[in-house]
Amino acid sequence: MHIEVVTIGDELLLGYTIDTNAAHLARTLAGEGVEISRRTTVGDTADAIAAAVREGLDRAGAVITTGGLGPTSDDLTKPSIAALFGRGMVLDEEHLAWMEQRFARLFQRPMPAANRQQAMLPEGARKLRNNHGSAPGIWLEDDRGRWVAMLPGVPREMRGMLADTLAPLIRERLGDDRRVVRSRTLRTTGIGESFIADRVASLGAIEDAGLAYLPNAEGTDLRLTVRDARPADAERRLAAAAERLRTVVGDAIYGEDGADLAAVVLDLCRERKLTISVAESCTGGLLGARLTAIPGSSDVVVGGVIAYSNALKASLLAVPSPMLAEHGAVSDPVVRAMASGARAATGAAMGLAITGIAGPGGGTDEKPVGTVWIACDLDGVVESRRLRLIGDRAEIRQRAAQAALEMARRRMLYGSALWEPAALGAKG
Ligand code: AMP
Ligand code: MG
Repeated sequence: MHIEVVTIGDELLLGYTIDTNAAHLARTLAGEGVEISRRTTVGDTADAIAAAVREGLDRAGAVITTGGLGPTSDDLTKPSIAALFGRGMVLDEEHLAWMEQRFARLFQRPMPAANRQQAMLPEGARKLRNNHGSAPGIWLEDDRGRWVAMLPGVPREMRGMLADTLAPLIRERLGDDRRVVRSRTLRTTGIGESFIADRVASLGAIEDAGLAYLPNAEGTDLRLTVRDARPADAERRLAAAAERLRTVVGDAIYGEDGADLAAVVLDLCRERKLTISVAESCTGGLLGARLTAIPGSSDVVVGGVIAYSNALKASLLAVPSPMLAEHGAVSDPVVRAMASGARAATGAAMGLAITGIAGPGGGTDEKPVGTVWIACDLDGVVESRRLRLIGDRAEIRQRAAQAALEMARRRMLYGSALWEPAALGAKG
């Protein structure tokens, strides 16, 4: 099945807002067996909206629009498409009442008159439920079965409505015979993509699924894709291919699809009833931020120290000043002392420490930019390693935080955090 997408909004044409809605629609609908055959973006004018939708209907017979469903005068999507279908606009009393109640409940005040517009629907329209906002989506179909689905512009509302309401509707129309494109992503870290490729080569072909290597600052994602398959077949083929990949790179896989290594580490700590503290120099709190960004992290994370200066490394983490003077802040003994110092200062079971040179300045021949030491002290047993990270300052900091998390994961799962070299975009 082919569908055209029309995204609506002057801000999209002017380049102030990036059109993430069109990308999200294409990705999500591929999994339902729909191909987006064309994307059009138009501004907030009735003629442009009507023309784009008319052409889309002529070509594909099905159009999804986003944007222009709001309560203000630039929101013209509904009346212009209603006119295209030869329909008038009518007030939906039920929706008006629902919006008034919602307003009273959420904001404890009467609804502005402008919002009434959102309860005006084209005659014969079907409402698409909005669980994240007040504007309903609209489904309009003509007597030849050609249809337009109008979704809100706000990405969160658009995604919610697609998942909750529109995707099931499309699924129903397509029936069991649909062919889909499905992907599954295995997330690895701590191993360079060419090392993964070598290991994967030993498998021979991965039957029935395409494999893409997607390196990024958090590691290398391995995306398996199956095309033109029945949904159940696609899932079975993906599961078989994922199983095969796991036999060779399983140790480096920390999760699937949207998995966050910080959440994985927190879960492992929870199972083992361990608490975590951090001691950060060049990452300036990034590691702590990664951990505390996960809801419910407070049962594992006790806190930590951002010790950027040598003086603070000495005073708050008890790193001996002579050690700092002799080896420098970016060194094996110092990172170990930082990890142990974090434990001592907080009473946590695990101390994770990072010290390094994020650049762009500050590098030397001996310690070039990207030299980062990480350490993990678990119950008094300390492991450390040196990383040579690539990228700009932001990437080096991200990679360092990710490596420290991977160190914690490996330590808990495999007993040792010292995995093979060439980690995390590391050289040597
Ligand atoms: P609207 O429903 O047209 O009032 O849009 C509300 C807000 O959603 C706009 O201010 C944009 O920030 C955002 N938005 C609209 N269309 C898109 C789009 N295609 N991609 C990403 N954001 C969008
Ligand atoms: Mg708009």
